[in-house]
Amino acid sequence: MSWAENIENKLGNRGLTTQKVSLPLDCSFLSPYLLPLGKRIELVKVSAISVNDIVETVNFSIENHIPIIPLGGGKNNIGGLTPTKNSIVIDLKGIRYIHKEGRSLRIGSGTPFYENRSFLFWPKVYPSTYSEGATIGGNLEGGSTGIGSFKYGRTWNQFTAIKVVTPTGKIETYSDDRIMSFAHALGTTGVVIEVKLEEREENDYPRIFTFKDAYEASDFASKINDAYHVSILPPSRIFETNTWTVLVVFEDEISEGIDGRRLWEKRRLFHGGIVEELNTFYQGFYVNKDMLGEALKIASENCEVEAELINDRTARVNVIGNRENISKVSTSFENIGVRVFNLHSIKINSRLE
Ligand SMILES: Cc1cc2nc3c(=O)[nH]c(=O)nc-3n(C[C@H](O)[C@H](O)[C@H](O)COP(=O)(O)OP(=O)(O)OC[C@H]3O[C@@H](n4cnc5c(N)ncnc54)[C@H](O)[C@@H]3O)c2cc1C
Repeated sequence: MSWAENIENKLGNRGLTTQKVSLPLDCSFLSPYLLPLGKRIELVKVSAISVNDIVETVNFSIENHIPIIPLGGGKNNIGGLTPTKNSIVIDLKGIRYIHKEGRSLRIGSGTPFYENRSFLFWPKVYPSTYSEGATIGGNLEGGSTGIGSFKYGRTWNQFTAIKVVTPTGKIETYSDDRIMSFAHALGTTGVVIEVKLEEREENDYPRIFTFKDAYEASDFASKINDAYHVSILPPSRIFETNTWTVLVVFEDEISEGIDGRRLWEKRRLFHGGIVEELNTFYQGFYVNKDMLGEALKIASENCEVEAELINDRTARVNVIGNRENISKVSTSFENIGVRVFNLHSIKINSRLE
C-alpha cells in the first residue's frame, strides 16, 4: 500500500473525505522550486466542510508528524506553501458562508470573492485573481496589496477579527495584533476558519487621465488624495492611446478625465494579473512616490510595467517580462533605492513591511 493510500484509509476512518492529489501546479511557472519537487511528493487532500473536520485533520497531522497545507482557491503566485515531504492538503473551499449583520460580515475562509460574474460581497481590498476562485482566507494568508489599496492599504488591514485552528489543534478568535500572525503567513501559523470585515459600499467612478511620459503620470497620480484605486499604465498597455494612462477610481461622480469603465472592467489584469495571459515572469517592487517616474521610465525601457498606488505613499510597481530583462531593471532599481517584494523569500511574514 502506498503512503497516500495508507493515510487516506486512516483519515477516512476518522470520518474525513479524502482524495489522493498531485501538487497543484497553477502558476508554478513563476516558482523556481515547485516544478522539480512536484514529481517526488505524495499528497492526500482532505475536503473540510466543518470546523470539526479542520480540528480532526490538524490533530491527525500532529499525531502522525505529517505536514499540513491549507488550500483555498490555489491562486497564489508560488503555489503558497511548497511541500518538501509527503503532506496532507486541507481544502477549505467547503468552509463557505457569509453571515451579514448590517455592513459587518463573518465569512467562511473558503468563500470566493466572486462567482457567476458577480461579487459575493464587497471587500475593501481584493486581489486581481478575484474572479478566478481566490478565497478570502487564501487572500489573508497569501495576499499583500490589491484593488482598493490606494484607500485601504494592505490586504490584512480590512480584517477586524479572525477565527483559526492553531497548530496545536485549538480554536482561537483574534481581534488584535495577532491577526498579523496570519498575514501573508502562507498557512504556516494555523488554519483560518473565518474572517470578519466591514463591507465596502460599492461606488466606483473610474476616470482616465493621459500624459506624455512616466514623470507627468506619476506626478499627477502622487497628488491624488481622495480615491478608491489608482493605477498607472504605460502606452504599451492601452492600445487606443499612445500616452501614459492614470486610471483613478473615485467614489463620487466627477466630470474630469474620460470614462474609464472599460479599463476598470479589466482590473483582473492589474497587480501582475497580466502574467497569466502572457505566461511570463514578474517581479514586484515597492517604490516611494518621489522615485516613481524614474522607476517607471527605467522599467518601461526594458519590460512591461504597471504601478498601483498604496495609501502609505508608496507604489507597488510590477515589472513583467523575461528573467534577464527583469534582472536588468532590478539592478537599476537598486541604484535608486527601490525595495524588492521577494515572492520566494522563505522567511515567514518577510513581505509585511
Ligand atoms: C497573476 C497573479 C496575480 C495576483 N494578484 C494579486 C493581487 O493583486 N493582490 C494579492 O493580494 N494577491 C495577488 N495574487 C496572489 C493570490 O492570487 C491572492 O492572494 C489570492 O487571494 C490567494 O487566494 P487563494 O484562495 O487562491 O489562496 P491559495 O493559493 O489557496 O493559498 C494561498 C496561501 O495561503 C494558504 N491558505 C489558504 N487558505 C488558508 C486558510 N484558510 N488558512 C490558512 N492558510 C491558508 C495556502 O497554504 C497558501 O500558502 C496574485 C497571484 C497571481 C498568480
